[in-house]
Amino acid sequence: MDLGIKGRRAVVCASSKGLGRGCAEALAEAGCDLVLNARGAEALEATAEHIRTKYGVNVVAVAADITTDEGRAKVLKAAGEVDILVNNAGGPPPGMWHDWEREDFIKALDANMLAPIAMIKALVPSMMDRGWGRVVNITSQSVKAPIGVLGLSNSARAGLTGYVAGTSRQVAGSGVNINNLLPGIHATDRAVSLDAGVSKAQGITSEQAKIDRCKTIPAGRYGTAEEFGAMCAFLCSTHAGFIVGQNILHDGGGVNATF
Ligand code: NAP
Repeated sequence: MDLGIKGRRAVVCASSKGLGRGCAEALAEAGCDLVLNARGAEALEATAEHIRTKYGVNVVAVAADITTDEGRAKVLKAAGEVDILVNNAGGPPPGMWHDWEREDFIKALDANMLAPIAMIKALVPSMMDRGWGRVVNITSQSVKAPIGVLGLSNSARAGLTGYVAGTSRQVAGSGVNINNLLPGIHATDRAVSLDAGVSKAQGITSEQAKIDRCKTIPAGRYGTAEEFGAMCAFLCSTHAGFIVGQNILHDGGGVNATF
């Protein structure tokens, strides 16, 4: 399918690895020029070079922490006017509900709620002026079904979801579509660290933790960054112009709900 976005310019935050990289590759395959971002310059440059060579699109790499004002300023300066924004950042650490102090919540809110909101506020006005734009926020299945040990994630992402629900409906009339893409478990470094956490807590191997987790997923496996990226690229495509403010699960059926 031609996604109709060849030549569009996209910023993909937190995209040297994992789900962000999956989104970046799928957008590059659709012909988008990219601004990529991550904190670590080495992996970021390697990903940027891989995408340039494989897809023949322009790629600018900005090493910066997207959860800080300074980091976002660097990314926004390199980005200029863009048509597509994919918001992403690392997820908060696991723990127990009684462990988290104000500072832990502030960090989670900065990373997983206020950073994407700041990027939306910076980039959506020029999309509206030009009458076309797409924003996809990578959130989590924890928005629909809480994951106890990821209470910081449950809280911060729910806040972003509320903001997007209202904002997406305010900007849709100007041709800008904002939606959230909710990953269930995917085979990335994040999943490796979550399995390591279960391994430690339960005294089992990480391999066993993965086998146990797969049994809870109707698809019987972890998702891939490529599958996730393809869904993101579709939401950024010309075909997704009537999808507004939705929370789209990409979880192999992991969330057991009718709606
Ligand atoms: P990942 O494999 O650990 O990759 C994270 C990427 O984000 C890396 O490129 C990392 O590079 C970059 N990054 C992290 N913090 C950053 C920051 N502050 N500023 C800029 N770049 C940053 O993680 P993932 O699995 O792709 O997960 C992406 C998001 O989806 C996370 O918020 C995660 O919690 C959420 N999620 C993932 C899953 C899953 O199963 N994988 C499920 C539900 C939700 P640097 O470290 O070099 O910055």
